[in-house]
Amino acid sequence: MTKPKDPEVSIKTRVVRGAEPARYAHHALTPPIVQTASYAFADTAELVAFFEGRGGPGQEYGRYGNPTARLLEERVAELEGAGDGLAFASGMAALTTTILALTRSGSHVVLFADCYRRTRHFVRDFLARFGVDHTLLAPGDVDGLEAALRPETRLVISEAPTNPFQIVLDLERMSAICRAQRVKTLVDSTFATPINLRPLELGVDLVAHSATKYLAGHHDVLGGVLVGNAGLVSLVRELHHEMGAVLDPHAAFLCLRGLKTLALRVEAQNRTGLALAQALEGHPRVRRVWYPGLASHPSHAVATRTMSGFGGVVSFELEASLEATGRFIDACRLPRIAPSLGGVDSLIEQPARMSYFELDADQRQNLGVPDSLVRYAVGIEGEHDIIADTLRGLDSFEG
Ligand code: PLP
Repeated sequence: MTKPKDPEVSIKTRVVRGAEPARYAHHALTPPIVQTASYAFADTAELVAFFEGRGGPGQEYGRYGNPTARLLEERVAELEGAGDGLAFASGMAALTTTILALTRSGSHVVLFADCYRRTRHFVRDFLARFGVDHTLLAPGDVDGLEAALRPETRLVISEAPTNPFQIVLDLERMSAICRAQRVKTLVDSTFATPINLRPLELGVDLVAHSATKYLAGHHDVLGGVLVGNAGLVSLVRELHHEMGAVLDPHAAFLCLRGLKTLALRVEAQNRTGLALAQALEGHPRVRRVWYPGLASHPSHAVATRTMSGFGGVVSFELEASLEATGRFIDACRLPRIAPSLGGVDSLIEQPARMSYFELDADQRQNLGVPDSLVRYAVGIEGEHDIIADTLRGLDSFEG
């Protein structure tokens, strides 16, 4: 780390001037994009010295490290209060490499049924082929955790808040239960960001982010970051060198640039998210709003205790059919219809027709995905514009 965490300095300042070297090469104000696949040695003596750990370049080959990606690793680690970090080509690369590194044939993994769908599929369909068993716990069911742990449980995977119903797990309790049994915990904190939640401070071992979302924040790059204690991260790093899903230096630069405005963006998205949720609650065409900042949300108490903001994603169910819900989405003029979240543009989607497009009505119902569910990921546009556009859409769509 170039600079240790200083708790006296607010996170607003640390996202701008956190773990950065005092000076970049060529006196540049911004981090250089070190666009290289290999690192060159002056002579054989330097090569030998490098392999003997006596100096030379930081690494010899791009799959083993890159200075621009390294800076992102250090910066996110500092923001999360972690010993070390590791950058990946995507959030899924971070999650799959980490899960693979921490399990082996005969291991057991516990995950919550509402964690990111692809993470669940990876454990259920892919890891099962290699003799890794798993247990799915109901959303938020920390009470069920103790009974789910087995002597061979290696890892508990959770998210906070979850998609689309925004369940916020009691991470402190989850970590305490797992620590007592020497089980590692991995939290996908993509929806929260270090601005709203710092799971490591609650006892969690590892935190993963899809940097594609809030951290980079502009819908223009895929990336992933893992942070945690240095020993665990280095275990994952070893496998990362072989799996090879490394973050491209230019993508790392875009993530670093996005990080500078993280606090500003997330604070605005927290404000707009809460205001939108409040405006929707009680509207005659809205059946239910799922936002942890509302007192009506099942995780409100835990979220209020552990988070400093509730994020920019608001999920809500309409008093409408599958088709009519699509008409509401089409009636909204401001948000773009697209997957993803956490960026500067507001995005809207109907999970029944986007993330779960391949499922029929019965399968969706079994999974608890209502036809009339809408997920609104607010951007940084004007709060009043977003709310006015949504209310106008609600008032005008054909039911
Ligand atoms: N975790 C969560 C909560 C996500 O929403 C996503 C993407 O939608 C991922 C992980 C995967 O990240 P990526 O798309 O960067 O691979």
